[in-house]
Amino acid sequence: MSSPQEYDVVVVGGGPAGSTVSTLVGKRGHRVLLLEKEGFPRYQIGESLLPATVHGIAHLLGVDDELRRAGFTVKRGGTFKWGSNPKPWTFEFAVSRRMAGPTSYAYQVERMKFDSILLDNARKNGVEVRENSPVTGVVEEDGRVRGVRYRDLDGRTAEVRARYVVDASGNTSRLYGRAGAERRYSPFFRNLALFAYYEGGGRLPAPYEGNILSVAFDHGWFWYIPLSPTLTSVGAVVGRESAQLVQGDPEAAMRRFVDACPLIREKLAGATRVTEGPYGRFRVRKDWSYCNTRFWGPGMVLVGDSACFVDPVFSSGVHLATYGGLLAARSVNSCLAGTVDEESAFAEFERRYRREYGLFHEFLIGFYDMHQSEDSYFWRARKVSDTAPTDVEAFVELVGGVASEEIAGGVMARARLAATSRELAKTVAAFEEEPVDSLGAASGPVLSRLLEQGAALQGRALLGERAGEGGPLEPGGLRASADGLMWVRHEPA
Ligand code: FAD
Repeated sequence: MSSPQEYDVVVVGGGPAGSTVSTLVGKRGHRVLLLEKEGFPRYQIGESLLPATVHGIAHLLGVDDELRRAGFTVKRGGTFKWGSNPKPWTFEFAVSRRMAGPTSYAYQVERMKFDSILLDNARKNGVEVRENSPVTGVVEEDGRVRGVRYRDLDGRTAEVRARYVVDASGNTSRLYGRAGAERRYSPFFRNLALFAYYEGGGRLPAPYEGNILSVAFDHGWFWYIPLSPTLTSVGAVVGRESAQLVQGDPEAAMRRFVDACPLIREKLAGATRVTEGPYGRFRVRKDWSYCNTRFWGPGMVLVGDSACFVDPVFSSGVHLATYGGLLAARSVNSCLAGTVDEESAFAEFERRYRREYGLFHEFLIGFYDMHQSEDSYFWRARKVSDTAPTDVEAFVELVGGVASEEIAGGVMARARLAATSRELAKTVAAFEEEPVDSLGAASGPVLSRLLEQGAALQGRALLGERAGEGGPLEPGGLRASADGLMWVRHEPA
């Protein structure tokens, strides 16, 4: 084995979490190596995105225009047949003033395309990317992770050293244990998913043809995600009691579930299942809901599915992965610059990341109670977040991912583009009425304070210098730098 190469940061995994963290560290001029096990494009589930990702994080990454040009299906919101209401109901991101106007939509994406765009963007930002290079272990010395071992293209084991290793290797890898973390599976979300792809499925009436359709039925619930005018991702999320059927004969299981769910049966009446290529088989996923006991250890940080994942119902996976990537990048950048000590920087990362996870987790537990009406779900969202002026806005903000502060960047971009639009003027006016500096210091439930941080930074995006920087999440905590890529100490005036 030749002598190991040295980097500032080695990132394991080229999914949304890995691409995000590596790009945002690369942007600060640090030497970043990203090692990816597969050759891209590679298949992944997780196709329905949130506005916070496609506007906020994508803008910070500098990839929002490219996403727009890629022609992904525009998702204005979600349509649910869920709870006690026998009729489907729809929410639109546009009802939230935080997402009004130019940021009131997300995308449904083919992950093979989306993840490749993000990974190529990492390369454009100076990240050295090596595909087909699985990491096989970490190098530890004196109780600190100092690098990784991986198999190179010739099948030889190579070693690289770095000041930080970021584990963004998803839900199947076990590297997370090297940060001293244990994985705790949720006793509540113990479902499994069976999914496949169909050509020619029906669409919701305009303007909601791009919405995710989520339909509860006797065995669980279905997702129905329009990936193109003709291609649809269809998944049944069912209880453990269906495990034998699903794993024994997935085709028969899917037929049975579709037959038991009239709305999905109707949508798929004229459709054919894709049987070739990357979409051509049934897939099953289980045991997905977990949270690790630690998100970092000396020299190593976990982001994305490597750290935690809740449940697919509100499409929060890619949002949590990219938001976690942003928070980790700030911590790594600050430590490499020597401006914040490691303990403070990574404690801030973990605190914010856990709270975002907790927000979805807490709300989802109530959402699985099928005896409620949509109004009571909206009410519950407001109870969890406690910031929006109406129940329905609280719900939409929560499921749009705007609890995270980093939609700021995206809103800024959209705001510039639409500077003359009346919608934007209204949004700016709403923020000006509510001074954002004061929001960071407001008291209230923990989760509501997180939403307030989001409002503060989004306000900064819209108003620039006039909005100030917003306060820290907790007294004495850190806040984001003006460019959003570092932590800085909050100096009270
Ligand atoms: P990944 O996207 O899994 O990327 C990890 C990368 O690491 C992979 O490319 C892998 O090849 C690589 N890797 C693994 N091991 C190694 C190694 N040893 N060395 C080098 N590379 C390695 N999320 C949504 O936002 N919307 C949805 O609609 C949605 N639906 C879902 C439905 C189901 C049934 C499930 C289970 C999840 C769903 N998700 C959804 C969640 C989403 O799939 C994940 O949260 C998201 O892909 C996490 O991104 P990541 O970058 O952390 O991991």
